[in-house]
Amino acid sequence: MLDGKAALVTGSTSGIGLAMARALAQAGANVMLNGLGDAAEIEKTRAGLAAETGRQIAYHPANMLKPDEIADAVEKTAETFGSLDILVNNAGIQHVSPIDSFPGDKWEAIVAINLSAAFYSTKAALPHMRKAGWGRIVNTASVHGLVASVEKAAYVAAKHGIVGLTKVTALETAEEPITCNAINPGWVRTELVERQIEARAKDMGVGIEEAAVSILSEKQPSLNFVTPEQLGGALVFLCSPAADQITGISLPVDGGWTAR
Ligand code: NAD
Repeated sequence: MLDGKAALVTGSTSGIGLAMARALAQAGANVMLNGLGDAAEIEKTRAGLAAETGRQIAYHPANMLKPDEIADAVEKTAETFGSLDILVNNAGIQHVSPIDSFPGDKWEAIVAINLSAAFYSTKAALPHMRKAGWGRIVNTASVHGLVASVEKAAYVAAKHGIVGLTKVTALETAEEPITCNAINPGWVRTELVERQIEARAKDMGVGIEEAAVSILSEKQPSLNFVTPEQLGGALVFLCSPAADQITGISLPVDGGWTAR
């Protein structure tokens, strides 16, 4: 379905981004990976994905804190594959603390990586999509782009911000064959959440699995974690012809979290 399309997925060296990159490649796209990590591990991931899917898979090391590196990742994707058709703004970090003790540098980094990076990549990607006459921008927001939780001031602010950026991008491209949407996951058991489960286990004095159940029962009515593969499926749907008229939305994949 996405044969010949070229995609950049930020933050795709692990977790949700890696599953999204895999889903796009399985649907036929060539993919530029991006993210932090050990160079040898990343090369293993890149080569594995290429062998598994038969698509061209490349890697760009842009740090999402740096606007010039973000723009370079977009340009290099277009140079490598001949176009940039799909942009997935997925890189993200978390820090959990009450506002009165929330470190300023953590606030700055979360807003830069989880929100501003998507502005710089979108700005750089739109001319390529307009030239090709087709484009899909998908932002990994969160349920925290729609509702709040305590001790996540920067994350909730950045994720509400990216929902707003999604809507503006959708309106500015509404008459073109370009769409921009957000996917809003609930709890997904990645590195980012594993650290929160560990903190909960320590607070409660219980084991990891009991803490995981406690975290789920507080927010996610399905009592099941969302899987990265399910988010890959949602992404491919938003890139499919069935979604041509879907733009500016937030798509919760959250086991009922935001239905409460
Ligand atoms: P993760 O920690 O497994 O992945 C984060 C990715 O972002 C990694 O590839 C990491 O290298 C990359 N990254 C971090 N800082 C970067 C930087 N400065 N420059 C470039 N890349 C950087 O976490 P995840 O859970 O897969 O998170 C992916 C996205 O999904 C994030 O935007 C997160 O907010 C969002 N999300 C996660 C959950 C969840 O429950 N895990 C829920 C809702 C939304």
